[in-house]
Amino acid sequence: MKPILIVDDDPGLQEMLQATLEYEGYTVFIAEDGQKALAVAEQEHPGLVLLDLMMPRMDGRAFMAELERRGLRGEMAVLVVSADRHAKEIAEGLNVDGLILKPFDVPEFMAAVHQMAR
Ligand SMILES: [Mg+2]
Repeated sequence: MKPILIVDDDPGLQEMLQATLEYEGYTVFIAEDGQKALAVAEQEHPGLVLLDLMMPRMDGRAFMAELERRGLRGEMAVLVVSADRHAKEIAEGLNVDGLILKPFDVPEFMAAVHQMAR
């Protein structure tokens, strides 16, 4: 199983997701903005990216554009995890594979992860 990359600027959510995913046996990397996430994606080749939309420096939308530009988009599934009230419309315009709205419950979240992890 390939690693999962958590991209979110909320330390509490990072910690919760990391603990949940590691408990399920996944290897996890964390980035707190799109810029750092790109560096990790290039180096670690995750099979799944959990992508927040609102982040400092580089947001989720810019991250997706840059992932495409660098030819990395096809390597990984992308699941948007967002509290943005326009998340559905934004996600639909971004060529992502799925959307989970915050706050979510863990079983729903894990079902999506199991389905999308590579
Ligand atoms: Mg955020």
